[in-house]
Amino acid sequence: MKKLLPTSTSGSLPKPSWLAQPETLWSPWKLQDDELVQGKQDALRVSLQEQHRAGIDIVSDGEQTRQHFVTTFIEHLDGVDFENRKTVKIRNRYDASVPTVVGPVARRKPVFVEDAKFLRQQTDQPIKWALPGPMTMIDTLYDAHYQSREKLAWEFAKILNQEAKELEAAGVDIIQFDEPAFNVFFDDVNDWGIACLERAIEGLKCETAVHICYGYGIKANTDWKKTLGTEWRQYEEVFPKLQQSNIDIISLECHNSRVPIELLELIRGKKVMVGAIDVANHEIETPEEVANTLRTALKFVDAENLYPCTNCGMAPLPRDVASAKLSALSAGAAIVRKELEA
Ligand SMILES: [Zn+2]
Repeated sequence: MKKLLPTSTSGSLPKPSWLAQPETLWSPWKLQDDELVQGKQDALRVSLQEQHRAGIDIVSDGEQTRQHFVTTFIEHLDGVDFENRKTVKIRNRYDASVPTVVGPVARRKPVFVEDAKFLRQQTDQPIKWALPGPMTMIDTLYDAHYQSREKLAWEFAKILNQEAKELEAAGVDIIQFDEPAFNVFFDDVNDWGIACLERAIEGLKCETAVHICYGYGIKANTDWKKTLGTEWRQYEEVFPKLQQSNIDIISLECHNSRVPIELLELIRGKKVMVGAIDVANHEIETPEEVANTLRTALKFVDAENLYPCTNCGMAPLPRDVASAKLSALSAGAAIVRKELEA
């Protein structure tokens, strides 16, 4: 990006009410068959238009074609039985009924590649595409086949690499892996989590990002955050190794979080997508608030590496709230950009 402080979102944006129940995760589709295919494309167009209107520089599909950022990808793979469900604890936080790995996992055909081609046709701006990271994928499954979190993660990394290469060929500029699990399983992250991520990006020429956050603004996450104390130092555990990794961009949560901002020093040299928009409340940030978050981050991130962003996805928010937050992000970035260029 030549433009200073290019803005983007973490990924998901609200879906229109004619496509899926608003403000709901795993919301069932309201359309079927061909109507669903066209409905998803229309929603993608609307979501893109919203991003254009708000002046977002690096745009995405707003995840309009997927029900959930992890499950939808897994649904397309062999070896996972969605009928045979088991209850597990997700990210050590809440119980969920999840599918079972019953055999070797494999990607028989591309998952999001057609959607990415469609997005590419709709815009000349840089596009970012989100995929789940290997560690977050294994954390939303019961594994009755490999019986090893690490083995399963390596298999997923290979599959993600196949998908990522095709997304790159479809014209995606930045491929992002969502790894909220990196904020929980520190030993595994350092032992094999980051290595698996590097396997997933092997051979890619486009830019790559990892998004590590404290989750959507849903109750299980906000309750968990209350147990984390006054300082959230989770990033401190994984940043040193990430700084040494081949990942180009690190996307993280800042505004309204209790992450000590000086932890950004640990990833000096990397590009950083700084979360300047809180996705866990409905209050709209003022441009000046966004600008303040960015100014603080600039003490630890060189200006050419700073990418203003949201803390996480905005799928569970009302559409008008998400839309106003996008505008605030853009306006706040514009203030600081002007200061830097002065
Ligand atoms: Zn997130």
